[in-house]
Amino acid sequence: MAPSQENDSSHGRLQASEINGQETTVQVIIIGGGLSGLQAAHDLQEAGLSCLLLEARDRVGGKLWSVPLSPGQKYVELGGAWTNDVNQPKVTALIKKLGLEMVKQNIVGDCILEDHGRFLYGSDPPLSEADKTAFAEVRNRVEALCHTVTVADFGQSLAEYGHMSMDELAICMGASDIVRRLVNIWTAAMLGVESNQVSAIFFLHYCQTGGGLLQMRSDDTGGGQHLRFRHGSQSLCHGLQRGLKPNTVVCSAPVQQIEQDPNTGCLVITRDGRRFRAERIISTVPSIFLNHITFSPSLSADKIWLSTHSKLGFYAKVFLIYSEPWWRKRGLCGLAQGLNGPVSLTRDASSDEDGLFALICFIVGQTGREWAQKDQHERLTEVIVHVDRIYGSNIPRPLETREQIWNEEEFSQGAPCPVVPASCLRSLSQDQWRPEGYIHFAGTETSTVWKGYMEGALVAGSRAAKEVIDIFSTS
Ligand SMILES: Cc1cc2nc3c(=O)[nH]c(=O)nc-3n(C[C@H](O)[C@H](O)[C@H](O)COP(=O)(O)OP(=O)(O)OC[C@H]3O[C@@H](n4cnc5c(N)ncnc54)[C@H](O)[C@@H]3O)c2cc1C
Repeated sequence: MAPSQENDSSHGRLQASEINGQETTVQVIIIGGGLSGLQAAHDLQEAGLSCLLLEARDRVGGKLWSVPLSPGQKYVELGGAWTNDVNQPKVTALIKKLGLEMVKQNIVGDCILEDHGRFLYGSDPPLSEADKTAFAEVRNRVEALCHTVTVADFGQSLAEYGHMSMDELAICMGASDIVRRLVNIWTAAMLGVESNQVSAIFFLHYCQTGGGLLQMRSDDTGGGQHLRFRHGSQSLCHGLQRGLKPNTVVCSAPVQQIEQDPNTGCLVITRDGRRFRAERIISTVPSIFLNHITFSPSLSADKIWLSTHSKLGFYAKVFLIYSEPWWRKRGLCGLAQGLNGPVSLTRDASSDEDGLFALICFIVGQTGREWAQKDQHERLTEVIVHVDRIYGSNIPRPLETREQIWNEEEFSQGAPCPVVPASCLRSLSQDQWRPEGYIHFAGTETSTVWKGYMEGALVAGSRAAKEVIDIFSTS
């Protein structure tokens, strides 16, 4: 198929978009202007292909959204925040290329486990000796087990773990009540779901893609939460967008329909009726959104199954902004685990250079869903009261607060990465992200490294772009 080949006088180098009547024609259309879609657009243009990126929101960035509290400074990360410069090479290279400033996550001082007390960052939580032993056993066995999952084919382990939830796996490994609650913090903090709502094999696979549970949970060098962006992670997206040809990105363009025709190529229609044509499409929308787009012919049963059964966890962030980092003065690093809701985790989200002193509170999982039913004033009051309970007495009032509930975003509906619940898991060993006709699939959840993370989004965007580039270069 080569619908625009006759216009292509330079071997697939249609520059910018061409208006053909009411239809804009390019070689490749990318759906979704998050990190994955922007990376794909970058790679395609670098290879000399013309492309257009259609983004539903009025901004690029998707799940990266950095909001300054005052013009140009004091950024709070409403979405993805952390990276590291050890094992996330694509993010690291982009940071270097764009010259972005990073802030090291504070791990100096003690952590807190609610109801149990303080403990030094990196040491075991202050549990009874029996619970400590049980926790170490579960953590070490989960860590070892996730390294045995074959990333590209995790269906191979289905026979043993396919129908087991993470909670059941923890019980099998001898978890006591408190250890089960700590395992629940892992799944809720990492995926927004309770440990009895996520299959063990899915979680193990998720950890494997990020180099293991311990690496993903770590705030230290090489860990998932080691570095933050001083001017916001969304600057990765803005930087990629700046490098694209003018008018590549079309915002406020939710795609509603995609038709594939062997003679005329792909027709993409947005909600407001705008029409676009291309020879190839790269979809970067999270899998649950594939069901919101009408495909003709329809997608394969695998993709429909995935789109129907994937669920997004509940994920909200509340920033508490203070005049000073009072927790550091108490010898605390800002990392606390809450057991009695609504706050599951807090972390130091300060940028000392900018005079920003903040704790970020994660409100996740089922507790979060119930919390979100309340009105905003009640929600905020509950968070502040809970932080007081976790941290003790005489906690200063925050000067300012920011709340972001990802489940209320029309084009996210939850975060950070779709999950297949235990009860619905079937053989995921099939290659569910293979291209369908002229449509290719990217987005962080399709990645086999750092799935659900920024690194995964970049890797997937480049992988899908390469699939397309290879096809154009051989046609
Ligand atoms: C609260 C939170 C915390 C996180 N923390 C971290 C972290 O610390 N570190 C880390 O690495 N990652 C983190 N993540 C995950 C990280 O943000 C994502 O992995 C990454 O941004 C995903 O990029 P993406 O392009 O794959 O998807 P998205 O960012 O979801 O982009 C998909 C895009 O598609 C658009 N879209 C949807 N439907 C349509 C349609 N019909 N037509 C057109 N466009 C459409 C959406 O608007 C969106 O812009 C976090 C995410 C959240 C929400």
